[in-house]
Amino acid sequence: MTTGCALALSGVSKTFSQGGSSVRAIDNIDLNVTPGEFLSAVGPSGCGKSTFLQIAAGLQPASGGSVKLDGQPVSGPPDGMVYLFQQYDRSLMPWRTVLRNVAFGLKDGRSRAERHAACMEYLDMVGLKDFADQYPWQLSGGMQQRVAIARALAAEPRILLLDEPFSSVDALTRSDLHQLVLRLWTERRFTAIMVTHDVDEAILLSDRIAVLSHRPSRIRESIFTDLPRPRDRIATPELPRFLELRHYLLETLTKRSEHA
Ligand code: ADP
Ligand code: MG
Repeated sequence: MTTGCALALSGVSKTFSQGGSSVRAIDNIDLNVTPGEFLSAVGPSGCGKSTFLQIAAGLQPASGGSVKLDGQPVSGPPDGMVYLFQQYDRSLMPWRTVLRNVAFGLKDGRSRAERHAACMEYLDMVGLKDFADQYPWQLSGGMQQRVAIARALAAEPRILLLDEPFSSVDALTRSDLHQLVLRLWTERRFTAIMVTHDVDEAILLSDRIAVLSHRPSRIRESIFTDLPRPRDRIATPELPRFLELRHYLLETLTKRSEHA
């Protein structure tokens, strides 16, 4: 069982300077993610979601504020953290086969045969066992993202950061992947932070949802998704409370975009 770690963002802001102009993408975000929590941040396109997640991962410096993982300042991608990029080609190495991409994330200390078996198991979980020997560029975008997801899960992260991870896969596959993430998160209790613009996905998976404003991004509201676990991709969205949360979030998000 993997134990998740705590991530604390305090007063985080980010301004991009380009030519003579500057763009303020993030404005004073405070957020404490507790060990083993599944937190989603939802917000409109261009509001600063990817920037927020990259700062949380130490992939980009903040312009102000601090990021701490288990109390330690984050200045680069920390051990135990896996980041799943929105652009799946950034998560995969094109010169490695699908199998070897997944193997890259595996922890050491296993024999060759055990590593192979573990990789095949993860590829089976994402429905790509038959594509182990192909190269990423031989697969469709959605399949590549599934390889990236298999690789991320195989690494057994203590904290998993997901940037719109399911947006490039078709609806049925997305539903399978939701169920897979729910199952592995329940078993391992890693900490997860996911940014998405998909309200249903955020409610189904998360313990808490941070609603981001238009740029510059701020946390407008934090909502606890008080739905029972274990959750199920079919039964959970039929619960009255799920519909209530969905209604509230959609209303909140659209109201904001009308006033943008
Ligand atoms: P989201 O992921 O919510 O769609 P992003 O975090 O990608 O939004 O971008 C937020 C804002 O910051 C956008 O206006 C984008 O153009 C700007 N931005 C992002 N990265 C850079 C960069 N490297 N240089 C300049 N502007 C950037
Ligand atoms: Mg983005």
